Amino acid sequence: MALPYRLRSITKPFEPALEHLNRCTMRFTVQQVRNGCRLGSLTDLGPQPLATPLWMMYTLQGSAPYLTSDVLSKISDTPSVMIVPNGHVSEHYDAIQKYNKGIAAFASLPEKLVFASMQDPGVATPTGFNTNKGVAVWGRPGKTEMTVEMHTRLTEALRPCVYQAMFDGDTPKDASNKRMKKSVDRSIQFLDLCLEEKKKSEVLRDVPMFAGIVGGYNKYERARFAKEVSKRDVSGYSIEGFHHNGSKVEELKISEISDLLQISLNELSEDKPRVFTGALPPHSLLAAIKLGLDIFDLSYPYVVGERGSALTFNYVFDAQTQEQELSHSVEGEEGPYEMCLKHKRFARDFGPLKQGCECYTCVHHSRAYVHHLLEVSELLAPILLTIHNMQHYIGFTQQIHKCLRDDSFDQLQMLIESQRTLKG
Ligand SMILES: [Zn+2]
Repeated sequence: MALPYRLRSITKPFEPALEHLNRCTMRFTVQQVRNGCRLGSLTDLGPQPLATPLWMMYTLQGSAPYLTSDVLSKISDTPSVMIVPNGHVSEHYDAIQKYNKGIAAFASLPEKLVFASMQDPGVATPTGFNTNKGVAVWGRPGKTEMTVEMHTRLTEALRPCVYQAMFDGDTPKDASNKRMKKSVDRSIQFLDLCLEEKKKSEVLRDVPMFAGIVGGYNKYERARFAKEVSKRDVSGYSIEGFHHNGSKVEELKISEISDLLQISLNELSEDKPRVFTGALPPHSLLAAIKLGLDIFDLSYPYVVGERGSALTFNYVFDAQTQEQELSHSVEGEEGPYEMCLKHKRFARDFGPLKQGCECYTCVHHSRAYVHHLLEVSELLAPILLTIHNMQHYIGFTQQIHKCLRDDSFDQLQMLIESQRTLKG
């Protein structure tokens, strides 16, 4: 699986094109806290202030999955920030570095801001591959063991607006206390090395760096690591160490990690943004917002599309629509918030993926057509599903903001919960 890694051959110092450097001093303000939920604003990152809770667009190799930038423009209100996992782009390091304008411009999305992450939120991170020297990241060609130096060079080439420091968050629920202690020791060491590299790097010196907050499922280690981070100069926090990437996150109960998370947060500044990446289904996302987390990503609609499903859950308070949407039977692997268009029952269903949806897919195509495309493994199937699922989830995030503002967040939580229990 290990690939001969091109970053290892770097001998020359990096020579950036100075006109493309990010000179930003991100500022974060928590404007309101309601029932645990934080409403805030990130400024000085891009041309416009960004309201939190904030969602980052999920990407594969720096692009929206299956969508060219032209097709992406058919989706309204796509997030201004995109998450770019290291493992996806490391194989293209030479080309991105040579291009010298960063991954957003390289991927024909020059208007997007980049959050460079260690791991892929849309795919479960394999366990057991980190060492004292480096952290395993995963992409199309397989595993790459990323050292701090490689991480720095790659991050420089990506030109992110924010990036994650290197951390060892490989602590599944059954990890031993010894393993969790090791993850903390290593992550402190990696963080200090990343801070040193940042100071030396002309490209990264002014770019906000977020610390990955680890400690696994061990209360003592969670507190120990967070205390160490609080002594260091970082711009934000990324909650890690719960193995919350990929479709398995649908089994993660936020209530089971809330005490551990609180132990981390108790030691950290309240004035810095908190990222929680991973494919969170609607009920977990709302629970995570209530715990005071600020930044998420759109990997969930991608994960749902990958199993041939369209998101159909209702997030608008409308009893009639809800009843209609819940009336179909649930089969196989289908989750509570979706309908799997692989099922034969859709072969002659000429309705849109979701009644009332105004996305490109629902306006132009039917469930029967997408079912047919899935049957014959036509590439258009994931394209149409991605358009619908992204647009649907973006609508959900907008509704979350509305409910936070007009104090109906609990009602929204009940609406989502009722669909989960009815169908789940
Ligand atoms: Zn649609």
